[in-house]
This record gives sequence, C-alpha cells and structure tokens, in this order.
Amino acid sequence: MKNSEITIIGGGVIGASVAYHLTEMGANDVLILEREAEQGKGSTGKATGGVRAQFETEINIKMSLYSIGFFTKFNELIGVDCGYEPRGYLFFATEENQFDYLKKNVEKQKSLGVKGVKIVDTKTISEIAKGLNCEDIIGGSFGANDGFINSLGVMEGFTEKSKENGAKILMETEVFSIETANSKVKFVETNRGKIETKTVVICAGAWARDLVKTTGIDLPVEPLKRQIVWAKSEKNLPENLPMVIDLGSGFHFRPVRDSKTEVLFAYPEADEKPSFNTDFDESFIEKIYKRAKYRAPFLAETNVVREKCRAGLYENTPDHHAILGGCAIEGLYFASGFSGHGVMHSPATGRALAEIILEGKANFLDVSCLSLERFTKGKLLHETAFI
Ligand SMILES: Cc1cc2nc3c(=O)[nH]c(=O)nc-3n(C[C@H](O)[C@H](O)[C@H](O)COP(=O)(O)OP(=O)(O)OC[C@H]3O[C@@H](n4cnc5c(N)ncnc54)[C@H](O)[C@@H]3O)c2cc1C
Repeated sequence: MKNSEITIIGGGVIGASVAYHLTEMGANDVLILEREAEQGKGSTGKATGGVRAQFETEINIKMSLYSIGFFTKFNELIGVDCGYEPRGYLFFATEENQFDYLKKNVEKQKSLGVKGVKIVDTKTISEIAKGLNCEDIIGGSFGANDGFINSLGVMEGFTEKSKENGAKILMETEVFSIETANSKVKFVETNRGKIETKTVVICAGAWARDLVKTTGIDLPVEPLKRQIVWAKSEKNLPENLPMVIDLGSGFHFRPVRDSKTEVLFAYPEADEKPSFNTDFDESFIEKIYKRAKYRAPFLAETNVVREKCRAGLYENTPDHHAILGGCAIEGLYFASGFSGHGVMHSPATGRALAEIILEGKANFLDVSCLSLERFTKGKLLHETAFI
C-alpha cells in the first residue's frame, strides 16, 4: 500500500492551489490524485476567466479581495503568467430593485476596502461598453479592478510551484472511495490500489458529492451545465470592453484575451436541471443570438466559432457559496461547491485550507461561515448576483 500524509483528490485549479499553499507552509508529503490523463479537463478548463469583487456577501467580497491581490503578484510569486487583466466588470440594471441592489452592494464593497468600484449612470455605461443598447438601462455598477484571468495558467502555475516545493501528482488515478475507521480517515481506494493517508482534501469539483457519500456524509453539491458561445466579428469589436452583465437575465459577454474581434457570451438557462451532461446544445446558439441582437447589435453580427463553443459544469450548493473546511470525520476536508467562482477564489481557498489543515483554522480570513455545518444549522448565506 502506498501512503501520503495529505491526499488531495482532484487536480483542477482548487486542488493545485491547496497543494501550493500547503507546501509553501511547509507540508512535505502532499499528493494530488487526478483521474484524467491531463489536468484541466473538469470545470477549470471550461471557465470564462472572470474575476470580480462585486459580490453581495462579505465572505465572497473578502475572498475576492484577497484573491485579486494575489493575482496581481502571481507572476512574481509563482513564475507563471496568470493573465490577470483589470478590464473591469460592468453590471447593469433595467429595474429599480436591481439598481438598488447594486447601490447597496457597492456601499458594502467599499466599506470592506474594495477600490475602484462605483455606481454608474446610463451615459457612463454607454461610454464604457460602446455599442450596448442602453434604452432600458437605468444604471449600473463598475469595478475597475475586476477583470480576467487565465484559468489554466492559474492552475498550471499553482501545480508547477507545488511540485517544485515537493508535492507529487498522480494522473489517471481515480478515487473510488474514502475509507474511515473510528471517524478518522484511513485510506483511499483507487484504480491503482489503496493509498494510506491521514488527511484527504476533496477538490473534485462537480463530482465531489458521490465521492464524499462513501464516508456517509452528504455534501450538497450539484452539477449544473453552463454553456459558452465563442464568436468572431468581421470588424473590430468596440475597444476596451470589460465583462458586461445584465443583472436581470444573467446575459453576459467578454472579449477574448488579446483579440480585437473575438468574444465569449453566455447566459444561465433557468430550466437547466442538475446533471453531468456537458454536451454543447446547438439550440443554445439561436437562443443567445436573440438576446444578443437586442442588447448588443455588434454581437449579433458575429459568426460562431463552433469548435470553440463549450459546455461545462457549475458545482452549485444550495446557497451558491463554497463549502470549505473540515467535518465530523477527522482528517476529511472540503474545498468544493464554488457555484461558478472557483477560479477567481482559488488563491483564498488554497490558503484557507492550508491554514485549517496545518494550524487548525484559517487565520488570514475567517471562513467559518462556509463550513458544511451551515446547512444543518440553517445558517445559509444569501447572494443574488450569481451568474
Ligand atoms: C462555463 C463555465 C464558466 C465559468 N466561469 C468562471 C469564471 O468566469 N470565473 C470563475 O472563477 N469560475 C468560473 N467557473 C467556475 C470554475 O470553473 C470552477 O468553480 C472551478 O474550475 C472549480 O475548480 P475545481 O478544481 O474545484 O474543479 P475542476 O476544475 O472541475 O477539477 C476537479 C478535478 O477533480 C477530478 N476528479 C473528480 N472526481 C475524481 C475522483 N473520484 N478521483 C480523481 N479525480 C477526480 C476531475 O477530473 C477534475 O480534474 C465557470 C465554470 C463553467 C462551467
């Protein structure tokens, strides 16, 4: 039987960040198990690459503040380009209650130290996102330090640095179960046999629930398909487009990195049911172009780059917040359920888990409100602006 002190299940951006932070803090026997032949095949490789501090809850805002700060020094610390580009996030409102919500959030964000975030009027919105149909827009909010990151770059950077620090990664290694005795982790069963371990960190993205069920614990994480259309315009897109989001419908778009003509756009389909289906649905193209035609005619004039369109899985929890930390089983920890924000929150998550495992609690930021216990204690969080 092989053994390792700390075993991380899942080699996406979260597993990589947890490994990096553990090894930076001195853990020297860290093993990542990834079932695929290469990393990034889960949600990390499907992400839009957005990062924002414009959230409603204090914990999400603080996780973002820490993470954006980390991305600004990522290249220097890790030696890999994470692609952080502060191009901004523009949320717009078409109804008074949405605008009030943005105003309230901006006040909270500012009070927690978010810089460069402000309420904007319709005229300013039309200047930030030229070509946007603003006829029904009543206002919005703009965060100048929000923007884009390269999801795979972040994952690769964390992985490489953790390997330099001594972590190991075993590919094509699927974990079937986590075995416990006397409420303590003993070993994990894999397609390569048993691996003895005292500590398991669940970083298995949308697939975490079934795995955790082998310990008798229910981790409320549901997979939900999200699709992205990739398109190319014959003329240049309006300059300096940020991420643009309709708060009411969740319709959003962003320019492709280093391209003047390519754009990604998406919206959450309200009737999507939880499943592991990641087939891109052709009918989505027609539905989204209908929205694009009204909101941004320059998007409607683009041509779909079919081979780059994709569908991936959000890993949703009932309150759209991550589940971080330990549980009743000694040695079992979760970094799961990011509900669409795992890439942007990966630095804060990695540090939180490393501190919880090695020091007993996250000292740099109190993440106790994200514990699994909140679901049994009825202490759910509330965030409306999930997209
Ligand atoms: C369309 C789309 C757009 C998104 N846009 C953004 C965005 O703009 N910004 C943002 O921050 N987030 C975004 N997200 C969310 C983000 O992609 C995820 O929150 C993040 O990638 C989660 O990382 P992870 O490492 O937990 O999961 P994953 O990247 O899914 O990694 C989990 C890994 O675990 C492995 N695994 C699973 N089960 C096992 C097992 N039993 N044994 C071994 N290995 C196993 C999988 O193979 C996988 O590699 C988006 C997601 C989607 C689908």
